Amino acid sequence: PGQRVPLPEADDELRALAADFNALLARQEEAAQRLRRFTGDAAHELRSPVASIRVQAEVAVANPDPELARETLADVLAEAERLSALLDGLLTLARSDAGELSPAEAVELLTEARAAADRLPPGSPAVRVTGVVGQAWAHAAHSEVELVLNNLLRNACRYASSQIVVSVLPGHSTVRLVVDDDGPGIPPEHRDRVFDRFYRVGADRARTSGGTGLGLAMVAEAVRRRGGRVSVGESPEGGARFQIVWRSAGNVSTS
Ligand code: ADP
Repeated sequence: PGQRVPLPEADDELRALAADFNALLARQEEAAQRLRRFTGDAAHELRSPVASIRVQAEVAVANPDPELARETLADVLAEAERLSALLDGLLTLARSDAGELSPAEAVELLTEARAAADRLPPGSPAVRVTGVVGQAWAHAAHSEVELVLNNLLRNACRYASSQIVVSVLPGHSTVRLVVDDDGPGIPPEHRDRVFDRFYRVGADRARTSGGTGLGLAMVAEAVRRRGGRVSVGESPEGGARFQIVWRSAGNVSTS
């Protein structure tokens, strides 16, 4: 811990001021620590695809067999794509850390959910989108809602065995988006941490799944900076249920 201002005796106003100052110092220390950890983790994550590209390229250069070279190049391409996804995620989070914020608008969730489902690649599990058009307007930037839906649906597709259900639920002062899948779900002991940067569950920790570990962190960031909430639990089918709550655009008094 850094230095603290000693709390002067007697003068209440001064005491309060010194206490505020100390709290500010503590928050800054915490932020600096988070940043250091993030930078360290990011470097560590970037290292593995770069190392892999390097080894594969060395093999290809040393081996005259064109068929083997092709296979190696395909692996190199996959790693380069992962690297590129990692960098995109890091940039998005860095912008958010820097406080860059697009203006908020009223975003109609059902239309966005349907559009996101339509963007999924052919061969994805079936996605059922439920809700009534025009009832749930989130106070958010359009790009944030898109990011949330893309990431949740991409994950659901990766894990679902056959069915994904997206529900859009209007409320009085909030609107809710629920994404259910029928995959293996997320064990309770990991639920607190899946929104952390680079956190992965079980076998995904080996970093071979092609993911970056940043998807849910970006989702949480995009939602929380508008005063919304994210949570994960169990779907009725025993898979994962991701729930996002935004402030309703109809009930925003300050923005
Ligand atoms: P990744 O790029 O690894 O998918 P995410 O931040 O999107 O990173 O997800 C973090 C981890 O949470 C994943 O690695 C996976 O272990 C777990 N996870 C995310 N979505 C689901 C889901 N729908 N079902 C089961 N596990 C999931």
